[in-house]
Amino acid sequence: MVEATPALGLTASEFAEIVGTEPSPVAYRDIFTCHEDLPRELRRWAEERNLRLRSLGRIKSERGKRSQKVLFGLADGYAVESVLIRRHDGFTACISSQVGCAFSCRFCASGQAGLKRNLDRHEIVEQVVRLGPKVNRIVFMGIGEPLNNYENVLAAIRILRDRDGMGFPTTGITISTIGIPKALARLSEEHLGVNLTVSLHATTQEVRDRLIPGSRKHDLREVVVRAISWAERHNRIVTFVYLLLPGVNDGRGDAERLVRMVAGKPARVNLMRWNPVESIDLGRPADHRLHQFRQWLDRAGVPVVVRDTQGADIDAACGQLWLRDLRGLKAEHRGAPRLGAAA
Ligand code: SF4
Repeated sequence: MVEATPALGLTASEFAEIVGTEPSPVAYRDIFTCHEDLPRELRRWAEERNLRLRSLGRIKSERGKRSQKVLFGLADGYAVESVLIRRHDGFTACISSQVGCAFSCRFCASGQAGLKRNLDRHEIVEQVVRLGPKVNRIVFMGIGEPLNNYENVLAAIRILRDRDGMGFPTTGITISTIGIPKALARLSEEHLGVNLTVSLHATTQEVRDRLIPGSRKHDLREVVVRAISWAERHNRIVTFVYLLLPGVNDGRGDAERLVRMVAGKPARVNLMRWNPVESIDLGRPADHRLHQFRQWLDRAGVPVVVRDTQGADIDAACGQLWLRDLRGLKAEHRGAPRLGAAA
């Protein structure tokens, strides 16, 4: 039997090729219909054309005051995590781009089991569709490094923003990356209008290499230069995320180096407080330390805000549900039934 084509991975023109020249009762935007409301006619229509409307199976979800984490099973037995976060003006979908991650950041649960595989474009799009029609912002901050799965992430963004389909506003999409210089240079040449957030976390190569071992070959200065040149090229502001860790990167010297890197540039800094991850021995900064660091940047004219990790009310950090439940294993190795592809 020929394997079904995942409908959510189709671009509008690929969809048009499948439909052909005959008038079609189903439009491209219909395949993005809310999962719960898929009409029977659409299902039948897709079946006749060997299109698979949905591929992810919901394994479990955890609900907090402002957020909900969902663990989605993939057709090959792996699983990924997505988070829906309520804001005052809508909902943000925090989605995954890979199964696991190769960068092994010391503070992150997702990187602990290593990289298993890239998500396909349809698996990325489906996370957004499955989190529901209320989503009006998307952030690539779940499991995986989005620029390490460049082709699929950009293809998914193009599908999400297509006016004939979901028509998602590009300005509501944020790529959050540790900053791969070559990929940042490539991203500068794309005309996408997305937002860019770069996880810096250090102002010296030595500290960054310790915090992000998978990024050792990336020169810290080049990461910053490439990110700023993306902002200049697109007339945007790049956000540098700085996770403040006591005794690691919170000194006066760190603040001064950070100022020299970004002051006067189209950049802002988000200071983050680390959320403890089981089995990771890092500290959380005291309030006064966080505010002092913020003041150092502020007084030097660097736009800075303090952010708390969203979704903290249900689990400390992205990737923890995934790590705790799966340890990055396929369903058959973790004693769970393998998920069939959901229609
Ligand atoms: S923080 Fe991001 S890049 Fe680092 S291990 Fe986690 S998912 Fe990967």
